[in-house]
Amino acid sequence: MEVPKTITCVDCGQLAHRLSYPPEEGWEIGDYVAYRCSGCNDRWDLEVCDEDAAPTFVSYASEYRAILEERNRPGGSAKC
Ligand SMILES: [Zn+2]
Repeated sequence: MEVPKTITCVDCGQLAHRLSYPPEEGWEIGDYVAYRCSGCNDRWDLEVCDEDAAPTFVSYASEYRAILEERNRPGGSAKC
C-alpha cells in the first residue's frame, strides 16, 4: 500500500511533508502516517485505509483547540 509523500493541509492549503518512514513490509491499513505542514506547522496523522475510503485527517493541534473552546464555553447553568 502506498501513501503520498506530501498532502495538502486542510487548514491552510500548503504542502505537508511526510515525517514517517515506510515500514520494511510496507504500509498497512490502520497504520498512522505523520505529516508536518510547511505552512501552519500543524502535525497531521493520517490513517492508512482502503483507497475507496476518504483519508482521515487527525490534527492534535485542532483537537487541542477544540478542547480549549469547550472549556471556554459558558456552562449553561443559569444561576441569576
Ligand atoms: Zn497548514
